[in-house]
Amino acid sequence: MDLHQKITELKKQKNAVILAHYYQVPEIQEVADYVGDSLGLSQKAAETDAEIIVFAGVHFMAETAKILNPNKKVLLPDLMAGCSLADSCPPDVFQKLVEAHPDHVVITYVNCSAEVKALSDIICTSSNAEKIVNSVPKDVPIIFAPDKNLGKYIQKKTGRKMLLWDGACIVHEVFSIDKLLKLYKEHPGSKIIAHPESESHILETANYIGSTAGMIDYVKKHPSEKFIVATEAGILHKMQQEVPQAVLIPAPAEEDNTCACSECAFMKMNTLQKLYNCLLNENPQIEVSEEIRKKAFLPIERMLELSK
Ligand code: SF4
Repeated sequence: MDLHQKITELKKQKNAVILAHYYQVPEIQEVADYVGDSLGLSQKAAETDAEIIVFAGVHFMAETAKILNPNKKVLLPDLMAGCSLADSCPPDVFQKLVEAHPDHVVITYVNCSAEVKALSDIICTSSNAEKIVNSVPKDVPIIFAPDKNLGKYIQKKTGRKMLLWDGACIVHEVFSIDKLLKLYKEHPGSKIIAHPESESHILETANYIGSTAGMIDYVKKHPSEKFIVATEAGILHKMQQEVPQAVLIPAPAEEDNTCACSECAFMKMNTLQKLYNCLLNENPQIEVSEEIRKKAFLPIERMLELSK
C-alpha cells in the first residue's frame, strides 16, 4: 500500500478525520476529508463526531480545533508548523493593550495563539471579519488584531476606525507590486484576485478581494478567465481542480524564487509521511490548559454563532 492508502485505512480504523487547509501540499489535500479556509475548518472541527482530528495546517488552527473539542485527540503532523502572524502578537504585550482600553471590544483574527484568543471578545476570519465588525454597535470602539492589512481593509469596507495591532503575515507581505503590474501587462485583461492579508497597494489593483474560499468561489463564477492569484500558492491546487479550464497565475514575490510565487514555509512543514506517522502514533498532540481553553472558547463560539 502507498502512503495515501495507508492513511485512508488508519483513518477508518481509528475513527479519525483529516482537516486540511488550502495551503497544504496537494498530496495532503488529496487524502483529507475536508479542505477549506479557517472558517470552514473551524466549523467542521466544531461539528465532527470523529474521535481523532488530524489537523493538516498550522499550530493555531489545530489549537482552535482543540479548544472546540477538549475531549478529542487533536494531532498536528509537525508541531513546529507555526505562523508568523500569530507570532507577531505575544499574549503578554497584547494583554497590556487590552487592559489599557477597557471600553474597547476586542476582535481578533483567528490567526493567533489560544492565549490571545482568551483575551478577545470575538474571533473572526477573513470570510466573516466585515460581518463581525459590523455586529458591534457603532459607538463602541474596537481593537482589531493581529493583522494590520486585514484591519485596514475592513476599516475601509465598514468605515469604522479601529485600533489596529501592528502584525502581518510574511507570505502576504512579499508580493511585489512592480512585478505584479509587469505580469498584468503580459496578461492584459486577466483578473487579479487577492487575500486581504496582502498590503494595500496590492489590494488596490485587485478585481476581487476575499478569503481563500471566497477566491475559489469567484473563480468558479468566471470559469473561462485568466487569474493572477495573490495568496499562498497552495490554493492553486484546489482552484484548478474546481475550475480546470481557468488559467491561474501565482502573483510574484519580491524575492526571486523558482516558482515565482509565495509559499508558507510553516504550512509546508507538514508532509504526507509526517501525517501518516502522527496518525499511526497519535502524536504530536495539541494540548491547551483548561483555564485558557474555557476563555478562548467563548469568542470562537460567538464567531460561529454570528457566521451561521
Ligand atoms: S500564510 Fe501567513 S498567516 Fe497563513 S499560516 Fe503562513 S504565515 Fe501564518
